[in-house]
Amino acid sequence: MKCYICRDLGFVLFTQSIKGSVYEFIAHCSCVKGNDYAYDGRGGEGPKSRYYVPPVGDVLPVADLIEQNRRLEAEFRPEKIA
Ligand SMILES: [Zn+2]
Repeated sequence: MKCYICRDLGFVLFTQSIKGSVYEFIAHCSCVKGNDYAYDGRGGEGPKSRYYVPPVGDVLPVADLIEQNRRLEAEFRPEKIA
């Protein structure tokens, strides 16, 4: 695993409560793989739309994600953190 933010997926899913309903959203990572998911329909080239995938740093506490994923990795592969 190279990226502790997205676990090499390129994106991070998060939930947000809007008017009492919980919705799932996607954010793109700041690593190389995240480029594939960086979509902004509001500007640039291509067809315009209201859809937009925010950078993970705008919507989630990145330091917490890294900490959490490091811990997860240590749990599943304890031999790696000797
Ligand atoms: Zn990443």
